[in-house]
Amino acid sequence: MTGSKRVLLAKPRGYCAGVDRAVQTVEEALKLYGAPIYVRKEIVHNKHVVGTLQAKGAIFVEENEEVPEGATVVFSAHGVAPEVHEQAAARSLKAIDATCPLVTKVHQEARRFAAEDYDILLIGHEGHEEVIGTAGEAPAHIQLVDGPDGVDKVTVRDPSKVVWLSQTTLSVDETLETVARLKTKLPLLMSPPSDDICYATSNRQDAVKAMAPNCDVVLVVGSQNSSNSQRLREVAVDAGASAGYLIDYAHEIQDDWLTGATTVGVTSGASVPDELVMEVLDFLAARDFTDVAEITTAQEKLVFSLPQELKRDMKANATARAAEVAKTLS
Ligand code: SF4
Repeated sequence: MTGSKRVLLAKPRGYCAGVDRAVQTVEEALKLYGAPIYVRKEIVHNKHVVGTLQAKGAIFVEENEEVPEGATVVFSAHGVAPEVHEQAAARSLKAIDATCPLVTKVHQEARRFAAEDYDILLIGHEGHEEVIGTAGEAPAHIQLVDGPDGVDKVTVRDPSKVVWLSQTTLSVDETLETVARLKTKLPLLMSPPSDDICYATSNRQDAVKAMAPNCDVVLVVGSQNSSNSQRLREVAVDAGASAGYLIDYAHEIQDDWLTGATTVGVTSGASVPDELVMEVLDFLAARDFTDVAEITTAQEKLVFSLPQELKRDMKANATARAAEVAKTLS
């Protein structure tokens, strides 16, 4: 029996606008300035993307002090605290900030509420780079709430002057639960002016929710340290899939995961190139999962322009080259 095995393929999946911009930033910087280009932290949390950029001449470091004085450094899509910009300036680094504009929006909210002397409850995962960057905007005003169980520990100066913000890549449902618990404790808690969980995170979770109830197994392509990918695996299981697995590459799929399965769901995190998903489909096709249906729950058209500092240098370079050509021809 081979004909009844099918794959449901979630859409949207994979690259979001912020990841696309961050990866392009490193690629364009390599073309413009030449290798090596230093990148502070993983540009996005994906093993394959990091390896590919390394092969092109990017050097990944943990901190600015590992970057030679005067060299070019790109800051990752997850954002950095203001002190990281200050350290870069002190070492005369040429800094290019690839922070996703939707993370920058949360930083701006944090600065604004801190300036108005609010206590800010930042819902997010302890130790995640994005949370470290956002908290660094106003450390004296921000406290981390790591999920619903973190609510009990919250203490505020004035219960009438408190706002919650969040990491962009959380589970939508778990965050609603955390906020509900916070509101029980702090009825005057203010909400952010607009959602902090980004469009890409919520769209990918919605697509998985639509697909998972019909799946025996859901395979999420994404790295272990990718928050949004981890959430997709959890959402798949919560929404009714019998099992969910997070894999970087097709060859990590274990045949016993597919034993007895007739429908396999496939999706990918926001930092995953679609070629890795296609390799998973090839792997499944070789095991008779040949009937592939895309489950589409949203269309995404958002594109972010490259960081200003890079665009300025690209323009200056293009102008200089045009002048050289004109001189040669005259
Ligand atoms: S997941 Fe959302 S916040 Fe993160 S880079 Fe993508 S669009 Fe930006």
